[in-house]
Amino acid sequence: MGVKSPEREIMNHTENDKIRSAVSRLDFRTQAFIDGKFVDVACGKSFVTENPATGKPLAEIAACDKEDIDRAVEAARSAFEKGSWSKMSPDDRKKVLLKFADLLETHTDELALLDCLEAGKPIQDCSTFDIPETVKCIRWHAEAIDKLYDHVSTTSSDNLGLILREPIGVVGAVIPWNFPALMAAWKIGPALAAGNSVLLKPSELTSLSALRMGELAGEAGVPQGVFNVLPGLGETAGQAIGLHMDIDMVAFTGSTEVGRLCLSYAAKSNLKRIILECGGKSPQVVMADAPEIDRIAVNVLNSAFWNMGENCSCGSRLIIHESLKDPLLDRLIELCKEWPVGDPLNPETRVGSMIGKAHMEKVLGYIEAGNSEGAQLVLGGRRVLEETGGYFIEPTIFDKVSNDMKIAREEIFGPVLSVITFTSEEQAISIANDTNYGLAASVYTQDVNAVHRISRALKAGTVSVNCFSEGDMTTPFGGFKESGFFGRDKSIWAHEQYTQLKTVWMQLD
Ligand code: NAP
Ligand code: MG
Repeated sequence: MGVKSPEREIMNHTENDKIRSAVSRLDFRTQAFIDGKFVDVACGKSFVTENPATGKPLAEIAACDKEDIDRAVEAARSAFEKGSWSKMSPDDRKKVLLKFADLLETHTDELALLDCLEAGKPIQDCSTFDIPETVKCIRWHAEAIDKLYDHVSTTSSDNLGLILREPIGVVGAVIPWNFPALMAAWKIGPALAAGNSVLLKPSELTSLSALRMGELAGEAGVPQGVFNVLPGLGETAGQAIGLHMDIDMVAFTGSTEVGRLCLSYAAKSNLKRIILECGGKSPQVVMADAPEIDRIAVNVLNSAFWNMGENCSCGSRLIIHESLKDPLLDRLIELCKEWPVGDPLNPETRVGSMIGKAHMEKVLGYIEAGNSEGAQLVLGGRRVLEETGGYFIEPTIFDKVSNDMKIAREEIFGPVLSVITFTSEEQAISIANDTNYGLAASVYTQDVNAVHRISRALKAGTVSVNCFSEGDMTTPFGGFKESGFFGRDKSIWAHEQYTQLKTVWMQLD
């Protein structure tokens, strides 16, 4: 996900010292947040979360299992039926969520540090993008609450047909580790705004900001039982949410593989509503007339390397007209100097660590596959900073890639860019669409007619033109093909999908 990399600000040493002293003062929440309080889990199990930039443990977190999910569902259902939130007046619900957004904003530095430490993301990105966007998302959905009207159908005068939107009930949100706070906000913002009760299961790799968000929501006045945070493993806590008979909807963001499981859970249980936001293999198409090579290069690198490429809309395939390839590739290599790999706590770092050892090894495996399948490595390709104990990979570019190679077909989720050339518009579109995914795409051209033709021809949920972007809070985000199922995050469309339609048909005298 993500819009664009924020402007870099150079911070001085004082800033660096301040960050380190703030880290030493952090107080981690490690229990489950159920029915408005932090509680021990029934089975007493826990798991260790580590800092992937050092390979050292950060905290031991309660591992929720089926019994804890049952307990949270009971609390969520009871709150929903009582109506403490679901029937609160829209204006009051709006006030509470706006207060929640304000509290998140007040705690920007703390939340940014939690995501930086646990996910290995650069602190500068966490504090200028992830958390501000998290705040914006909650605020946007809060503000929408009392501005949405229901409908009256067209009837004869002796009938009245009301078409109402009602909250769905108890919603499970299962989310990934790449933008921990922000992915939580994309789900809980619209789900809570619509009046639902929510169970949030963060990735086992990144639970800390979600737990703190649960606590801050309580402080803001979200009633007990309405927002529960359940840290735990996918195969236990995630599965128990998916199969639960009293959860009405699961909103999932993560891999296509686990997304498929969510659909099967719904089929095997209560046909709960499922929305899936999954992976991608997004093309960046650069036409022969594309303007300003320098600006394109900045965008291409943002798209490929921002968030270490651990970004669902990562533009991992650069599909470029052969006449522009050499000048653009030279510029990309040159500009990569502005992407230093390093300690995520250093404000000047732009490339932090991979999320963990296993994922780093998977990404290195793709780099090996690129080499053995005959692509030409022109930049990077190695693990670096091994002495830190962390899992760092340098930005990597492969030239001479063909679209049937493994690196062009599978989602790598790392800083690896594949360069593929074309000679005609038709060929560019066909290569861009030759993937099972369809999340995002970019096209660069000066020709307004080509913009319309190509953006309509690309099979992707979001097409950005002459930039890398996912739009903003006002635009829906979600994927075609195996990048998603039914779902859209952000915007009024996200809000609506956490409601269900009810018709009330009245006979009038
Ligand atoms: P993942 O492995 O699919 O995990 C996503 C979530 O599902 C985690 O909370 C995970 O818990 C849980 N889970 C794992 N196994 C499960 C199971 N058997 N049953 C129920 N839940 C289970 O994905 P990830 O590695 O965290 O995230 C990377 C993926 O997310 C990439 O494919 C990326 O493209 C996608 N993504 C998509 C978007 C979008 O908007 N389309 C945004 C961000 C990321 P554990 O972590 O505890 O295993
Ligand atoms: Mg971790």
